[in-house]
Amino acid sequence: MWACGEAAASSARRPRHPFLSPHPPPRRHGIRSFATPAPPVPASFSPPAHTTPLTRRAALASAGSLLLAPAMGLHAKPQPASATKPPAAPAAPTVWPQALQVPGGVARLSLGPASARPRALVRQGDVDVPVLVAGDAIEWTAIVGIPLAAAPGDAFITALADGNGNGSPRPLHYTVAPKRYKEQHLQVSPRTVDLSPEDQARYERERDHQAGVMATFTALPAGQAQPSLRMRVPVPGRRSSSFGLRRVFNGQPRNPHSGMDIAAPTGTPIVAPLAGRVIDVGDYFFNGGTVWLDHGQGLLTMYCHLSRMDVRVGDVLQAGDAFCQVGATGRVTGPHLHWGVMLNRSMVDPALFIPA
Ligand SMILES: [Zn+2]
Repeated sequence: MWACGEAAASSARRPRHPFLSPHPPPRRHGIRSFATPAPPVPASFSPPAHTTPLTRRAALASAGSLLLAPAMGLHAKPQPASATKPPAAPAAPTVWPQALQVPGGVARLSLGPASARPRALVRQGDVDVPVLVAGDAIEWTAIVGIPLAAAPGDAFITALADGNGNGSPRPLHYTVAPKRYKEQHLQVSPRTVDLSPEDQARYERERDHQAGVMATFTALPAGQAQPSLRMRVPVPGRRSSSFGLRRVFNGQPRNPHSGMDIAAPTGTPIVAPLAGRVIDVGDYFFNGGTVWLDHGQGLLTMYCHLSRMDVRVGDVLQAGDAFCQVGATGRVTGPHLHWGVMLNRSMVDPALFIPA
């Protein structure tokens, strides 16, 4: 089993020594590094339109409210009739991402109807972070990333006035259920836990740079529908279920594992799970060759330990575009993709965004 040294995604503040592999550092495979500061993201970035199906809208439509739809641009695409297809089974409507109100999960909170997209904020540390809002005039939904460090119990977001400036801020409460992630204890040489002063300085520089990348929030243009948030699996391979794994080295807790590891040979192409824009390309101490994509409204994805990166900051990708390759760069024990998914600056479980 490979292990993963990613360390960029902690929401915790105290400086610490992140995970070091107990194994020798891997070879590097000709990384193309474009360690460019993240540029301001232009407001013109607009992923392709796609309307997310919503339960409430379906219910309203069946009750006749669809008459409203043409004026609001809400009419559903006509489904081609199929004589050979059996009647559709009454499957539960699937929404993406799936809701799972635990640390590292996602809450889907209704903001109700409004003619324009409302805004919502979530308090993280000492900052208010904007939240992704999907839906349409019949029902808007805040898609809230719950930090791995979140305490179980009551939590809330603040729904602001809607896009037309109507209404006043109001809290929307939800409950975070406890989830006990597995713990991994490792005894390693103290040298591999305590960084040299040079490596520590490099790590801190990179951590600060990544914090800027993670703060990216690209608003959708007014009237632009939020594209579907159902993601493609970025690379075929065995997926770990190690999201949230709590790692303890020599008795000292380290960052929990905040992504999904997918095992694949070095050189395997990785594709964009959604349309997006490249906001960071670099070669980092723990994460190795790394690319960040911005999918809009604070939904970011991260790809680590890459052997090859074929994009530059500012490139725009469509879903399915190959843009980098699996590798074993950074502090890892074998080739794999470390894939991270971030909502409102919180790393959440990528499994909630892809079919099982
Ligand atoms: Zn990983």
